[in-house]
Amino acid sequence: MGTVPSALKHCLSYQHLLKEQLWIGEPAAPPPAAELHTSGLPEYVKIVEVGPRDGLQNEKVMVPTDIKIELINRLSKGGLSVIEVTSFVSSKWVPQMADHTEVMRGIERHPGVRYPVLTPNLHGFHAAIAAGATEVSIFGAASESFSKMNINCSIEESIEKFDEVAKSARNMCIPVRGYVSCALGCPYEGNVAPAKVAEVSKRLYSMGCYEISLGDTIGVGTPGSMKRMLEAVMKEIPVSALAVHCHDTYGQALANILTAMQMGVSIVDSAVAGLGGCPYAKGASGNVATEDVIYMLNGLGINTGVNLYKVMEAGNFICTVLNKQTNSKVAQASFSV
Ligand SMILES: [Zn+2]
Repeated sequence: MGTVPSALKHCLSYQHLLKEQLWIGEPAAPPPAAELHTSGLPEYVKIVEVGPRDGLQNEKVMVPTDIKIELINRLSKGGLSVIEVTSFVSSKWVPQMADHTEVMRGIERHPGVRYPVLTPNLHGFHAAIAAGATEVSIFGAASESFSKMNINCSIEESIEKFDEVAKSARNMCIPVRGYVSCALGCPYEGNVAPAKVAEVSKRLYSMGCYEISLGDTIGVGTPGSMKRMLEAVMKEIPVSALAVHCHDTYGQALANILTAMQMGVSIVDSAVAGLGGCPYAKGASGNVATEDVIYMLNGLGINTGVNLYKVMEAGNFICTVLNKQTNSKVAQASFSV
């Protein structure tokens, strides 16, 4: 099981963790299947690691290209099956992702791991394909004001751009993932109607997105608003095609994820070390930490295929470079004893 942090060996909770086998992602005995069946929770959850893109693009420090590549390689070795690598957006808008081509070309491609990249328009899509991308993501919003401020066009105009990307992708057999941001609230408009989230999600799904990631971009959602939003979206899209993307600004992310899983969602976005921030709430936490999600899922006996310890090491690696403390509670508890 590899080396463990030395300080941890003296920690009582470490013994407990070992006993529960939470480190290596193997569920504790007795077999949880029957329990999970009655709880309505999925037996397997796919983790979509968004740290290298969503996380790093919201960090103030510009991370060197070779460090990004090393981070992604470490995450691949941690058993993650989907790692969002970078964004093919203009470096004028997102300077942190200006090295997208070098990162895409530099990473090790592990068998069974998918490496999607964000492509906001056709120009970005072609650049991504030229760099070797085999899967792309598009990023829409359920809030008109957010769409205008963030991607500089109305929801309708953004859908037209995405449709061009989706059509080109279809012709090349490239899978497209769709994001719907502000699914549980908008920094400009406040509440966002679940019906609006359902409408935008349906349009992305109809244009061929195989998966729709519902983003609580500013982390204001609660299990209550998550439930109401999912009820509306699930009327339009099969739950098997839905992912949740929670930020932990108000400390609700794990509760929101658990709520979504109880409703049948089995795809969860997260970022190693909780990378990123929230540009709309100063000092607030970023994406929910992958380590914390894995710890919770391991405790529930839900399989993810992810090695918690290796992800924690990857988190430690990037936090050292960024010279910041991890946002993962699990990593804090484990490394700072
Ligand atoms: Zn995010």
